[in-house]
Amino acid sequence: MLSPPSRVAPVAAEKFFTEEHLSMHNLTRYKNRGPDRELRGRVLLCTVFVNTPSFRWEDGKERDAALETVKEAAGYLMKCAAEENVSLDISTFIQKDLEAPSDVIRNNPGKRWLLRFIRERSAVTLNGWERKMAAKTGNDSVVPVFLVKQEGISYANVASFPFDQEYVVLYWKSAKKYTLVHELLHVYGAIDYYYPDRLMTLAHESFGESVMLSSRSGVIDEFTRYLIGWKREKTDRICRFLKMTGNPFTGQNFITHSICRIKRWKFRREKQREKAQ
Ligand SMILES: [Zn+2]
Repeated sequence: MLSPPSRVAPVAAEKFFTEEHLSMHNLTRYKNRGPDRELRGRVLLCTVFVNTPSFRWEDGKERDAALETVKEAAGYLMKCAAEENVSLDISTFIQKDLEAPSDVIRNNPGKRWLLRFIRERSAVTLNGWERKMAAKTGNDSVVPVFLVKQEGISYANVASFPFDQEYVVLYWKSAKKYTLVHELLHVYGAIDYYYPDRLMTLAHESFGESVMLSSRSGVIDEFTRYLIGWKREKTDRICRFLKMTGNPFTGQNFITHSICRIKRWKFRREKQREKAQ
């Protein structure tokens, strides 16, 4: 007769991690995904000044200052890559201004402003346009950087699947050089460390300061270097970090995984309450 399974001690759980588990880990979900895979070779940042009904780029000085931020971020990334012996050449190219139909340049499903950008270039998809642009200019990857003259939280649209679109929206009034560095690293596979608290603590304990923890720091940590393709192999420290943040049976990140479950549960409860009323 089979005896009931005994509870697995947390320390012993580490042995359940195989290379496959680690490669399925939730925190590596953007590595080598989407059109922009590794931050190396020739990269073109296509900067686009976005004019919305309330916020227009008219002042030449402000435009120059915004472009300077982009160039500083590019220069900083190239310097860090050189320290890692990675060849990286980032250049910038200014696109025609984009007239957005509304002030909302959020990552909303409609994204009329983005559709307009694609349509104005006679393209069907953003990825298709990026590929064409890369071939025309002799670059390995092309990243559109949309500069918005508003306060806001800058973001990167990152790909989980090969056909997803990748670009950066920079709310220039609140953004600094390292904000753009952070967002560009996302495009090439980096993940945020600042949420939730447990992940923040574990990341800080494992890798110290990182631009993915706070854009006050410019440090590109070891795990981020692995995710963006600067380091080919996982170090012991990276493996330990993945094990600490992973579910030994599925390899998924237990932290974000459980948060999703709580969110789903709250959402269902709310729906049930709505029905009951
Ligand atoms: Zn982020």
